[in-house]
Amino acid sequence: MSQKLVSAETVDSRSLVQAHLAEPAVHQYSEEELELWRERIKRLLKEQNAVLVAHYYTDPLIQALAEETGGCVSDSLEMARFGAEHQADTLVVAGVKFMGETAKILTPNKRVLMPTLEATCSLDLGCPPEEFATFCDQHPDRTVVVYANTSAAVKARADWVVTSSIALDVVDHLDANGEKILWAPDKHLGSYVQRETGADVLLWNGSCIVHEEFKAKGVEDLKALYPDAVVLVHPESPAAVVELADVVGSTSQIINAAKTRPEKRFIVATDQGIFYKMQQQCPDKELIIAPTAGAGATCRSCANCPWMAMNSLENLCGVLERGDNEILVDPELGRRAMMPLQRMLDFRKPLD
Ligand code: SF4
Repeated sequence: MSQKLVSAETVDSRSLVQAHLAEPAVHQYSEEELELWRERIKRLLKEQNAVLVAHYYTDPLIQALAEETGGCVSDSLEMARFGAEHQADTLVVAGVKFMGETAKILTPNKRVLMPTLEATCSLDLGCPPEEFATFCDQHPDRTVVVYANTSAAVKARADWVVTSSIALDVVDHLDANGEKILWAPDKHLGSYVQRETGADVLLWNGSCIVHEEFKAKGVEDLKALYPDAVVLVHPESPAAVVELADVVGSTSQIINAAKTRPEKRFIVATDQGIFYKMQQQCPDKELIIAPTAGAGATCRSCANCPWMAMNSLENLCGVLERGDNEILVDPELGRRAMMPLQRMLDFRKPLD
């Protein structure tokens, strides 16, 4: 499987600066509408013994509500753990489809609802189970490691599931055991893991449409303007962008770096939704969105996952009122997908 690096484009960095301070996209509501939606959702969550589990990339209004109601705002690994350990009868997962499926696989006895069933992920879409199974069959000597951003059927074919927060640790561990890896679906993350661990990794050719758009030239230009800034990059970004990073990490690791490092200014290459939590965790820091736009573009950073943005207070409220959009996973498929997922959860437990 060949690796393709996105070429850097020229970005007029001076024209970029004005709008680069973090300003996450939000759905627009009047104050009255907002309060109405919030109160209805809070009441429904309580009545149904339900808990809201939201990803960092969702609308900040949803993230705030999850926090306020005793739910969770996190990356996909922590979302999975939180849902599995929580006592609620119903998990309402605000994110994309594979997150709802993962929650259902881990907790088959709980009802799992999602605000929309349309929200998917380019990595999931780019890894059809049948083609992936054929690829695995062609390489029976390799340990199959798949990213969490995959369907239940792809997970069921894997030996390990990983998230970006533990991918390096798991592959390092497998490499130390002399295992060769078949990695899917994100080629950028897989390539990063390969470079960092030195493991023998065969890559599936998938990518995230959001992170693939970050431009190395734009980050270099911003660095020239802000030489004191620390560059934080999600490893789903192209290698040319990852090479410019001071810290490469998952969403949780990026937030933690901004919080704990002494520097005051950060250039951040991941979905804009993360700025809600970053601003909350480090209000004294200046956060700058890494550019995704090329020369002449009108939008300077479009780092906002279109599927994550499908989650809104309206459809969150609607799903609680109607009880539809339930995630169902075939029990046998779920049982097989559970094995590599459980390996991931067990792998991390001793480190927590
Ligand atoms: S940001 Fe990328 S990896 Fe995350 S859900 Fe959207 S398309 Fe998938």
